[in-house]
Amino acid sequence: MNYQVFKTSGALATNTYVFEDDGKIYIVDPGFGIGKFVSDKEVYVLLTHGHFDHIMGLSELNIKKVFISKEDREMLTNPSLNFSQLFGKSFSFNGDVEDIDEHFETIKAPGHTMGSRIIIIDDLIFTGDTVFCSTIGRVDLSGSREKMIETLKTLNERFSKMDKNLKILPGHNEQCTIKTLFKINPYFKTR
Ligand SMILES: [Zn+2]
Repeated sequence: MNYQVFKTSGALATNTYVFEDDGKIYIVDPGFGIGKFVSDKEVYVLLTHGHFDHIMGLSELNIKKVFISKEDREMLTNPSLNFSQLFGKSFSFNGDVEDIDEHFETIKAPGHTMGSRIIIIDDLIFTGDTVFCSTIGRVDLSGSREKMIETLKTLNERFSKMDKNLKILPGHNEQCTIKTLFKINPYFKTR
Protein backbone atom coordinates (compact mmCIF):
# COMPACT_ATOMS: atom_id res chain seq x y z
CA MET A 1 0.00 0.00 0.00
CA ASN A 2 1.21 3.52 -0.78
CA TYR A 3 1.92 5.86 2.09
CA GLN A 4 3.44 9.25 2.74
CA VAL A 5 5.62 10.19 5.68
CA PHE A 6 5.95 13.69 7.14
CA LYS A 7 8.32 14.94 9.83
CA THR A 8 6.30 16.55 12.62
CA SER A 9 6.73 17.78 16.20
CA GLY A 10 9.65 20.07 15.34
CA ALA A 11 13.04 18.98 16.62
CA LEU A 12 11.59 15.68 17.86
CA ALA A 13 11.11 14.73 14.18
CA THR A 14 8.20 12.38 14.70
CA ASN A 15 7.18 10.33 11.66
CA THR A 16 3.53 10.96 10.81
CA TYR A 17 2.21 8.56 8.18
CA VAL A 18 -0.68 9.19 5.81
CA PHE A 19 -2.38 6.60 3.60
CA GLU A 20 -5.69 6.09 1.82
CA ASP A 21 -7.72 2.91 1.98
CA ASP A 22 -11.19 2.32 0.60
CA GLY A 23 -11.68 6.07 0.05
CA LYS A 24 -10.80 6.91 3.63
CA ILE A 25 -7.79 8.94 4.70
CA TYR A 26 -5.82 7.52 7.63
CA ILE A 27 -3.21 9.36 9.66
CA VAL A 28 -0.87 7.49 11.99
CA ASP A 29 0.62 9.40 14.95
CA PRO A 30 -0.08 13.05 14.05
CA GLY A 31 2.68 15.15 15.58
CA PHE A 32 2.34 18.91 15.73
CA GLY A 33 2.74 20.60 12.37
CA ILE A 34 0.93 17.84 10.42
CA GLY A 35 -1.84 20.31 9.56
CA LYS A 36 0.27 22.06 6.95
CA PHE A 37 0.85 18.80 5.03
CA VAL A 38 -2.74 17.54 4.74
CA SER A 39 -6.02 18.92 3.42
CA ASP A 40 -8.96 19.69 5.69
CA LYS A 41 -10.74 16.49 4.55
CA GLU A 42 -12.11 14.22 7.26
CA VAL A 43 -9.53 11.73 8.56
CA TYR A 44 -9.27 8.63 10.72
CA VAL A 45 -6.40 8.71 13.18
CA LEU A 46 -4.52 5.64 14.38
CA LEU A 47 -2.23 6.02 17.39
CA THR A 48 0.60 3.62 18.23
CA HIS A 49 0.74 5.15 21.72
CA GLY A 50 -0.19 8.27 23.67
CA HIS A 51 3.03 10.31 23.97
CA PHE A 52 2.59 14.02 23.20
CA ASP A 53 4.86 14.12 20.16
CA HIS A 54 2.58 11.58 18.42
CA ILE A 55 -0.77 13.15 19.33
CA MET A 56 -0.42 16.94 19.39
CA GLY A 57 -1.31 17.25 15.71
CA LEU A 58 -4.84 16.05 16.56
CA SER A 59 -5.87 19.68 17.08
CA GLU A 60 -4.84 20.51 13.49
CA LEU A 61 -6.99 17.86 11.79
CA ASN A 62 -10.60 17.42 10.71
CA ILE A 63 -11.16 14.23 12.67
CA LYS A 64 -13.81 11.60 12.08
CA LYS A 65 -12.50 9.19 14.69
CA VAL A 66 -9.40 8.41 16.76
CA PHE A 67 -8.25 4.88 17.60
CA ILE A 68 -5.90 4.08 20.48
CA SER A 69 -5.40 1.21 22.95
CA LYS A 70 -7.48 1.08 26.13
CA GLU A 71 -4.36 1.39 28.29
CA ASP A 72 -3.04 4.56 26.63
CA ARG A 73 -6.43 6.22 26.19
CA GLU A 74 -6.14 8.37 29.30
CA MET A 75 -2.92 9.88 27.96
CA LEU A 76 -5.01 11.80 25.43
CA THR A 77 -6.84 13.75 28.10
CA ASN A 78 -4.09 14.09 30.69
CA PRO A 79 -1.13 16.41 29.91
CA SER A 80 0.98 14.93 32.70
CA LEU A 81 0.44 11.37 31.41
CA ASN A 82 1.23 12.25 27.78
CA PHE A 83 4.27 14.28 28.97
CA SER A 84 3.28 17.46 27.12
CA GLN A 85 3.22 19.23 30.48
CA LEU A 86 6.77 18.17 31.23
CA PHE A 87 7.88 19.61 27.88
CA GLY A 88 6.00 22.87 28.49
CA LYS A 89 3.24 22.48 25.89
CA SER A 90 0.26 21.23 27.92
CA PHE A 91 -1.94 19.29 25.47
CA SER A 92 -5.12 17.27 25.80
CA PHE A 93 -7.67 15.86 23.35
CA ASN A 94 -11.29 15.26 24.24
CA GLY A 95 -12.85 14.03 21.00
CA ASP A 96 -14.42 10.71 20.01
CA VAL A 97 -12.04 7.81 20.73
CA GLU A 98 -12.35 4.06 20.08
CA ASP A 99 -10.41 0.93 21.02
CA ILE A 100 -7.90 0.27 18.23
CA ASP A 101 -7.79 -3.49 18.90
CA GLU A 102 -11.48 -3.84 18.03
CA HIS A 103 -11.12 -2.29 14.58
CA PHE A 104 -7.60 -3.03 13.31
CA GLU A 105 -4.98 -5.76 13.33
CA THR A 106 -2.63 -4.97 16.18
CA ILE A 107 0.04 -6.62 18.29
CA LYS A 108 0.08 -5.65 21.95
CA ALA A 109 3.55 -4.26 22.63
CA PRO A 110 3.83 -2.89 26.19
CA GLY A 111 7.24 -1.50 27.11
CA HIS A 112 7.68 1.99 25.66
CA THR A 113 4.23 2.76 27.09
CA MET A 114 1.93 0.21 28.71
CA GLY A 115 -0.57 0.49 25.85
CA SER A 116 1.80 0.62 22.89
CA ARG A 117 0.57 -1.20 19.80
CA ILE A 118 2.11 -2.45 16.58
CA ILE A 119 -0.49 -1.70 13.90
CA ILE A 120 -0.59 -3.86 10.77
CA ILE A 121 -2.37 -2.56 7.67
CA ASP A 122 -1.82 -4.59 4.51
CA ASP A 123 1.99 -4.58 3.98
CA LEU A 124 2.59 -1.69 6.39
CA ILE A 125 3.68 -2.29 9.99
CA PHE A 126 3.52 0.81 12.19
CA THR A 127 5.81 0.22 15.15
CA GLY A 128 5.57 3.59 16.94
CA ASP A 129 8.36 4.04 19.45
CA THR A 130 8.53 0.34 20.33
CA VAL A 131 10.82 -0.67 17.47
CA PHE A 132 13.04 1.44 15.23
CA CYS A 133 14.95 -0.09 12.32
CA SER A 134 18.27 -0.19 14.15
CA THR A 135 17.25 -0.06 17.83
CA ILE A 136 14.27 -0.02 20.25
CA GLY A 137 12.41 2.70 22.13
CA ARG A 138 13.15 4.00 25.61
CA VAL A 139 11.26 2.59 28.58
CA ASP A 140 11.70 5.43 31.08
CA LEU A 141 8.66 7.52 30.06
CA SER A 142 5.98 5.54 31.93
CA GLY A 143 7.04 2.30 30.26
CA SER A 144 8.49 -0.93 31.62
CA ARG A 145 11.78 -2.66 30.89
CA GLU A 146 10.39 -6.08 31.86
CA LYS A 147 7.41 -5.66 29.52
CA MET A 148 9.69 -4.51 26.71
CA ILE A 149 11.75 -7.69 27.03
CA GLU A 150 8.56 -9.80 26.74
CA THR A 151 7.35 -7.68 23.82
CA LEU A 152 10.63 -8.17 21.95
CA LYS A 153 10.26 -11.92 22.37
CA THR A 154 6.74 -11.75 20.92
CA LEU A 155 7.80 -9.51 18.03
CA ASN A 156 10.81 -11.67 17.16
CA GLU A 157 8.44 -14.62 16.83
CA ARG A 158 5.73 -12.78 14.93
CA PHE A 159 8.01 -10.90 12.52
CA SER A 160 10.12 -13.98 11.74
CA LYS A 161 6.97 -15.70 10.45
CA MET A 162 5.88 -12.76 8.29
CA ASP A 163 6.80 -11.83 4.71
CA LYS A 164 10.30 -10.30 4.90
CA ASN A 165 9.32 -7.57 2.43
CA LEU A 166 6.71 -6.04 4.74
CA LYS A 167 7.58 -2.47 5.69
CA ILE A 168 8.58 -1.40 9.18
CA LEU A 169 7.37 2.16 9.73
CA PRO A 170 8.61 3.53 13.07
CA GLY A 171 7.64 6.69 14.93
CA HIS A 172 11.08 8.23 14.41
CA ASN A 173 14.05 7.79 12.07
CA GLU A 174 14.11 5.89 8.81
CA GLN A 175 11.83 3.14 7.44
CA CYS A 176 12.94 -0.37 6.47
CA THR A 177 11.69 -3.89 5.76
CA ILE A 178 11.45 -6.85 8.14
CA LYS A 179 14.42 -8.28 6.27
CA THR A 180 16.56 -5.23 7.06
CA LEU A 181 15.30 -5.09 10.64
CA PHE A 182 16.63 -8.60 11.29
CA LYS A 183 19.89 -7.61 9.64
CA ILE A 184 20.64 -4.32 11.44
CA ASN A 185 18.69 -4.32 14.72
CA PRO A 186 20.59 -6.13 17.50
CA TYR A 187 17.30 -6.84 19.32
CA PHE A 188 16.07 -8.95 16.40
CA LYS A 189 17.73 -12.24 15.59
CA THR A 190 16.73 -15.00 13.22
CA ARG A 191 17.10 -18.40 14.77
ZN1 LIG B 1 6.82 7.71 22.53
